[in-house]
Amino acid sequence: MRPTSATVRLGAIVDNYRLACRLAPGSKSIAIIKANAYGHGLLKVAQVLEPEVPALAVAFIDEAVQLRDAGISKSILVLQGATHADDIVEAAENDFWLLQHHQRQIEWVLSSNHSKPVKVWLKMDTGMHRLGFVPEALDQVCADLASSPNVQRELVLCTHLACADDMSNPMTSEQVSKIQSSSGNHNLSMSIANSAGILCWPETHAEWNRPGYMLYGNSPMVSFDGDSFGLSPAMTMNSQVIAIRDVKAGQGVGYGSDWVAKKHSRIGTIAIGYGDGYPRHAPSGTPVLVNGQRVPLAGRVSMDAITVDLTELENVDVGDPVELWGQGLSVNEVASVAGTIGYEILAGLTGRAPLIYQS
Ligand SMILES: *Cc1c(COP(=O)(O)O)cnc(C)c1O
Repeated sequence: MRPTSATVRLGAIVDNYRLACRLAPGSKSIAIIKANAYGHGLLKVAQVLEPEVPALAVAFIDEAVQLRDAGISKSILVLQGATHADDIVEAAENDFWLLQHHQRQIEWVLSSNHSKPVKVWLKMDTGMHRLGFVPEALDQVCADLASSPNVQRELVLCTHLACADDMSNPMTSEQVSKIQSSSGNHNLSMSIANSAGILCWPETHAEWNRPGYMLYGNSPMVSFDGDSFGLSPAMTMNSQVIAIRDVKAGQGVGYGSDWVAKKHSRIGTIAIGYGDGYPRHAPSGTPVLVNGQRVPLAGRVSMDAITVDLTELENVDVGDPVELWGQGLSVNEVASVAGTIGYEILAGLTGRAPLIYQS
């Protein structure tokens, strides 16, 4: 068997979820498991969190259907709401909560023909300018939904924070005051906090919180690591050294011969590449753990392999264990060196490296 796989500690996900709940004791926390549970496996993560949560959340109705088909029975919030008029009946019958952001989705709800009322959340644009109703549009939308037999009572007003990963950004407080004044006007309960809100912005804790990234043990904050909040990374991406060679000063390594040895060096080749989701833009110098010790990536990332500089490492052999990220090296650090964010690395895992579950 290929020596590359991601170990996922399901117990860590439960612990991280419980931490999210403890940090916001007055809120109900909906676990966000979109994008294959941030690469950790949609169904397994749903199964382990189902007994803990009031509801699960995914981005699209297809993901919610997949969960129902697999036997998950908890309520499921669909973050982008209905994508088609027929989705309303499907949502009503399956206890999917639709986070509706657009007038067209409201019209589908009002004109739908179904016996069970559907649970509707309303997305409000408080400044991110991506999705949601502007405050002035809410009067009409709330009035229409309130008088429709198709809709369950108690709408929830929801907004998404644009800058909560940065503690010094005034945007978060502005967004909070906008949604608070609208919820007050319409007497609606609210949902504001993502992981960053839960961890660092108590004023964003409302009736419903929506933790995602933190559940997987990683910090959404630019300037804090997961440890500092007591989070534990759930995934460790493991591989092995599959070859070691000496290169002379002046010799290049990998595609484009981008990395050139400054002195006689030892190069290790590792059985992971961008075909697995290792970031192709990771530059030479990106940290990799070989035998638990940091070594720098040397040369371009290929589809099936990376090369590292082992010159400074003693007693290293073919078959030795490699960690690309996980408990010994945060995915955030790897991402930041590679010019991306840990979210993208995790959501971009291709599935070629199998997920191996541990309790
Ligand atoms: C993805 C998402 C979240 C979770 O955000 P994290 O930063 O991963 O905690 C919350 N709400 C919405 C609407 C989302 O799309």
